[in-house]
Amino acid sequence: MYRLVRVAFCCGILALQGCAERASSPERPVATSFRHYAAVDDARLRAADANADQWMSHGRDYNEQRFSPLARINVDTVKTLGLAWYADFDTRRTQEATPIVVDGVLYATSAWSKVFAYDAKTGKSLWNYDPKVSGEWAVNACCDVVNRGVAAWNGKIYVGTLDGRLVALDGGTGNVMWNVQTTDRTQALTITGAPRIARGKVFIGQAGSEFEQRGYISAYDAETGKLDWRWYVVPGNPANGFENAQMELAAKTWGGEWWKIGGGGTPWDAITYDPATDLVYVGTGNGGPFPAEIRSPGNNVNLYVDSIVALRAQTGEYVWHYQMTPHDSWDYDGTQQLTVADLTLDGIRRHVVMQASKNGFFYIVDTANGKLLSAQPFIEDINWASGIDLATGAPRINPQARYDRTNQGFIVNPSPEGAHSWHPMSYSPQTGLVYIPAARRNFPMVAEREDDNPMGQKLSVSFAKGFALYNRPEVHRFNDGFLVAWDPVKQRAAWSVKFADGGRGGGTLATAGNLVFQGNVNEELAAYRADTGEKLWAAPTQTGIVAGASTFEVGGEQYVAVVAGSRSGGNYYSPNYSRVLVYKLGGTTQLPPKVAEPVRVLNPPEAFGTPERIKHGEETYNRFCRPCHGVQTENRGAFPDLKYSAALNSAELFKTIVLDGALAQNGMVSFAKAISAEDAEGVRAYVVSRAIEAQQKAALAPAAQPGAPH
Ligand code: CA
Repeated sequence: MYRLVRVAFCCGILALQGCAERASSPERPVATSFRHYAAVDDARLRAADANADQWMSHGRDYNEQRFSPLARINVDTVKTLGLAWYADFDTRRTQEATPIVVDGVLYATSAWSKVFAYDAKTGKSLWNYDPKVSGEWAVNACCDVVNRGVAAWNGKIYVGTLDGRLVALDGGTGNVMWNVQTTDRTQALTITGAPRIARGKVFIGQAGSEFEQRGYISAYDAETGKLDWRWYVVPGNPANGFENAQMELAAKTWGGEWWKIGGGGTPWDAITYDPATDLVYVGTGNGGPFPAEIRSPGNNVNLYVDSIVALRAQTGEYVWHYQMTPHDSWDYDGTQQLTVADLTLDGIRRHVVMQASKNGFFYIVDTANGKLLSAQPFIEDINWASGIDLATGAPRINPQARYDRTNQGFIVNPSPEGAHSWHPMSYSPQTGLVYIPAARRNFPMVAEREDDNPMGQKLSVSFAKGFALYNRPEVHRFNDGFLVAWDPVKQRAAWSVKFADGGRGGGTLATAGNLVFQGNVNEELAAYRADTGEKLWAAPTQTGIVAGASTFEVGGEQYVAVVAGSRSGGNYYSPNYSRVLVYKLGGTTQLPPKVAEPVRVLNPPEAFGTPERIKHGEETYNRFCRPCHGVQTENRGAFPDLKYSAALNSAELFKTIVLDGALAQNGMVSFAKAISAEDAEGVRAYVVSRAIEAQQKAALAPAAQPGAPH
């Protein structure tokens, strides 16, 4: 307590001195509040370039360009970039947050929606906050218990929690100022995205399209937590009346009784406030379940899923929308970052919003009316659509890709992982390029109705049948990661960097030092020349990086901050080195050595069960276990690899975990609502068969010889 008071006092003096200096300089507006922490307001955010030493909001400025005017770290100096400080998190889960920096304090979140505040120069911990999300809530998350960061406004720090709360914290102490539930706690809804703030309102969505939910975006008063407005993405039951005219129109684009299965559309990441138009642009999620004809038979344009929707910030009133993926059956959420810029297209200066969509096309939309201006593929071999009709804005969908209609499986590129997902992209006005963490991967989709699924994801696709298709010898499988530097005016890539062997890059940061920073799953943070893609620098990070970096200045020194922590392989039971890493020129801090990987041995019991029972076990596994433990039990280390589980050797122990919930606090809840003891035993038989297969494969593999190529 004493330490906190002392820190608050010292920083208070500094902040006051800072205010006095800035007050005399009109191009550096400061917060009107007298609070000393998290002093962010509209004037200061509008002048984000004049406040280049700060990183005050998720995408740095309102436009979410993730371009910093700072240039002390540049193509000439970056070679001396070294670690200034690091701070460990207490979790092995995936980390996705962008660090926010306001007046020398760095705020980051970890998995489980925990918030950490540090002295940005030294890394000294100032406070932290744990919303104490129950471990059992993990079963409601499609894609791990992640969090993408905080918002700062008028003395407070805001975080959305995995269990659907929006919490305002005192920026100086981390004490809770208010805490509101934004979702129905009886439903599988989660918040993983960062809140955005403008006009004194906190904008927040949620995830849940994979769980038969109905998405919406809300605006809360930043001071009181009172709900100001809410806008639903998809229509509800017409019998109950519609909330507004748009829902009535949208209902005409749906078929069957979609409201019984929610419809989806959850806006789980992109929200951009545009001060030039006073609009909020929202990226909406996919329809659920995946196959359009199962979700919405006979009529499935399905507004407003997979769209950019523009709403008045003050009232939530609809203004326009552009839908990227009508008839979506491929999980093509439209939730990727929405970046606002002024571009000259065909000789006309336009104020546009840009998105590198999950569906593989780079969209440029006019903010004046939502009209599509440009849409070209930023990766190769897209096969769900042959192109986008600029006159109507509609994709030319490949009839074969409509596996929901043909009842034949289809191997689609991009995969449901997306050609680009939530990983932040950046736009440099200096080079005119957008830096996209991209992927080219194909994936099998086979429709299979799931009518009665009491818990977990409800996708209505069969992974077992999909992989039977995908594993045929004539299928050309590909899985490549790229950093693509996209020229939005010329509508083509200026350069790209390819990662080896299924590798992926994380979020990107562009700077006036002619640099692009990007972490990757190969356990490094790297810097590239922004104009050419030449790799100039990299530091080993001991763990994969998927989050986007930020940069700031304190005391005349520029820093680059990133949150690390993800796996692309290895053992869940080893640490994944989840940390904040902060670099500066001449930094000499060393990370402690990695610990040895715990040894794991495949030790399954004898195979048991008839082929039918194993097959049934595989189906049960795919419905309930796959979302965490991975397709065909291959989960790349983010969750325990069940093939190595000691519980495989005991029907009783397996049942204690799967049906009695012995590991519920770790997120492994009881599935007794959904499956019987017989089903559980079938899952055990299936996983045992996979473990034996892996054991045989390992025995056949030639032992690595020292010095031999491998
Ligand atoms: Ca999705």
